[in-house]
Amino acid sequence: MDLKITQARLLDKPGFWQIGIAGTQIVAIAPSIDTTATTTLDAHENLVIPGLVDGHMHLDKALILDRAPAIAGTFNEAMQTTLEMKRHFTVEDIQNRARRVLERAIAFGMTAMRSHVEVDTTIGLVGMEALLPLREEYAWGITLQLAAFAQEGITNQPGEVSLLREAMAMGADVIGSAPYVDPDPERNIQLIFDLAEEFDCNVDFHLDFLDDEAPLLLPLCWRKLFDGDGKDASA
Ligand SMILES: [Zn+2]
Repeated sequence: MDLKITQARLLDKPGFWQIGIAGTQIVAIAPSIDTTATTTLDAHENLVIPGLVDGHMHLDKALILDRAPAIAGTFNEAMQTTLEMKRHFTVEDIQNRARRVLERAIAFGMTAMRSHVEVDTTIGLVGMEALLPLREEYAWGITLQLAAFAQEGITNQPGEVSLLREAMAMGADVIGSAPYVDPDPERNIQLIFDLAEEFDCNVDFHLDFLDDEAPLLLPLCWRKLFDGDGKDASA
């Protein structure tokens, strides 16, 4: 046994428990485990829980509020300001900020994270170049998934599909998009599903804020998932 945690409190079991771990697997949970372990960790009667998961992060544009504080505090302002700042992002700048976020996340118990990585005609593949090495560098502490992300639309940006394809070929895990910024949200969604099929990966959409009157796009994605070609099966 590699690790034994003693005097641990658990969510669903009263009393104090020992947890035995071999490699990456929990192999025993009991009031007392006889087997000796290479390392023993005393939880001092604190609660032991599974690692935390952050399913939605933007490592490439994290920690930039000090560069342009929000004045109006609106979504549109955030989009415009970030687009302007994105022109100056470099591999080193993104890595410096992303490292701070990753180290903070690991210190707070995060063991899995999905981060979007903007891929478009403004930033190109700089975000991918910056974050791919960090996925490996921090694998000891966190499982990081990278989603090649079309934040600025697809049909309104010549070359965007090729860029996304390049990002996937570089090693992105997931393909992501924000159809609400695209003049043709439906086509946007179709193109993302096509790429997902091409690379056999999951999709991750920024969809349906519900604070405006825009028609919901979720039913469209739902149909594509369950009807393949996007046509309503009942039509
Ligand atoms: Zn987001």
